Amino acid sequence: MEVRNNYINGQWQASVSGATREVINPSNGEVIALVTDSVAEDSKQAIAAAKAAFYQSGAWRRMAGPKRADLLLRIADAIAARADELAVMDTLDNGKPLREARCDVDDAAACFRYYAGLITKPQGGVYEVSDGFGPMHAYSMHEPVGVCALITPWNYPLLMAAWKLAPALAAGNAVVFKPSEVTPLSAVALFEIFHQVGLPAGTANLVLGSGPAAGQELAASHDVDMITFTGSTRTGQTIAAAAVGNLKKVGLELGGKSPNVIFADADLEGAVEWAMIGVFFNQGEVCSAGSRILIEESIKDRFVARLAERARAMSIGPGMKDPDMGAIVSAAQLEKVLGHIERAKQQGATLVCGGVRHTAGECAKGYFVQPTIFDNCTRDMDIVREEVFGPVVAIQTFTSEAEAIAMANDTPYGLAGGVFTTDGARALRVVKEIRAGVTWINCYNPTFNEAPWGGYKMSGYGRDLGVNGLLEYQQVKQVNINLQPGPVGWYQR
Ligand code: NDP
Repeated sequence: MEVRNNYINGQWQASVSGATREVINPSNGEVIALVTDSVAEDSKQAIAAAKAAFYQSGAWRRMAGPKRADLLLRIADAIAARADELAVMDTLDNGKPLREARCDVDDAAACFRYYAGLITKPQGGVYEVSDGFGPMHAYSMHEPVGVCALITPWNYPLLMAAWKLAPALAAGNAVVFKPSEVTPLSAVALFEIFHQVGLPAGTANLVLGSGPAAGQELAASHDVDMITFTGSTRTGQTIAAAAVGNLKKVGLELGGKSPNVIFADADLEGAVEWAMIGVFFNQGEVCSAGSRILIEESIKDRFVARLAERARAMSIGPGMKDPDMGAIVSAAQLEKVLGHIERAKQQGATLVCGGVRHTAGECAKGYFVQPTIFDNCTRDMDIVREEVFGPVVAIQTFTSEAEAIAMANDTPYGLAGGVFTTDGARALRVVKEIRAGVTWINCYNPTFNEAPWGGYKMSGYGRDLGVNGLLEYQQVKQVNINLQPGPVGWYQR
């Protein structure tokens, strides 16, 4: 089996470790590829290449914005040209349904297009300043941060790569990218595209390997100017601690336990549909998953009955067959999800449906879990407090708007939240009170390249996407100009 390698300084090369790692198809447990298994030394080489590209050559950062934009547009075109292949890759690697992977590919191409456009728009400002020193003029300009390390998780392999690589490159940085070791294949294809469009050597480097072995060096290295990470809160804390040494800029998009608040006046059928998208889309492996449904008591029984009816009707199977729900990403994640389910049962939550591994038919060897609903959940239960990252939802009830808001915010996380009601003023009031970075009214989970994405509280800091996503990868420099050169007389007694 051919081994996929690192891409460092414009060359494909194996890890110095000489070791390889198997990539598993979670739908059947079979090995689908081998990738090189990097260690800290590989990350050091990638960082050195990025540092030389940024600080010595400077070809990319000095390239005029419109020219960088041209290259990003060619990347987007190349992604679109390989869309079917990339979607199959992510489906085989991650387990998600093929049509969802296809949406990810389209979004990834659109993300490169968005940042290609944005980098050609005006940036910075011009400032009226006081004339105490004589006539002065001030403006600000945006510059790339320098060497940026980007680490992504396994739930949206290509899309998370695009969310970080597109703005980082648009801004003119040099990057070292480490995808999750669990789902590295579409990242390799993306770097083939970078090579094909002629990104200057060293501008974008790929390191394939585990977090502790290859990722930790990216967080700790004093030659890295910024690290941005999407993944679990615990790993985010490890990365932030490692990054302290040179006070590099840090961006963290972390976990969540997001509330989906449904009032009695909501359109019930619509709320059910969106709640399904909120928690079963992408097998529930979504950082913003609406995994806590807070429902007004008077409609709870009707809502839960309908949600369970819809959940039981979901087709589960290999992503290539395009079912409603595919496989959990790995055996380890499957065990984690099943562990959460067992603990919820032990702690007294009422299992409404699912709650078991799904092994019927061609799912026998894969890592499938049935869509699972727990009713009668209470605030102290782990299923209400901890991120599951699987198709599992906890139901709680409220009787007033104030109680709903208090329950929504009763979590250390603050990534997302939804509100369902036909009372427009109430929707706006509740959304305003939810301490989270991404919120939805009468829908759940739609995400747009144009709008900022990120969390409050222990869901991290910094933003992906939108204008804010570009700003993350930029420094702002103030330039003050003396309009009347020569002695000003201010420093004389
Ligand atoms: P992690 O947060 O541990 O992994 C995410 C990324 O970080 C991967 O690329 C991983 O590498 C890397 N990483 C891990 N440790 C380090 C480190 N010390 N230094 C630098 N990089 C590191 O998630 P897991 O895959 O372990 O999943 C565990 C849980 O995290 C899930 O059950 C879920 O609850 C949550 N999660 C949240 C996500 C989100 O978007 N909020 C996304 C994914 C998971 P590698 O995998 O290659 O070892």
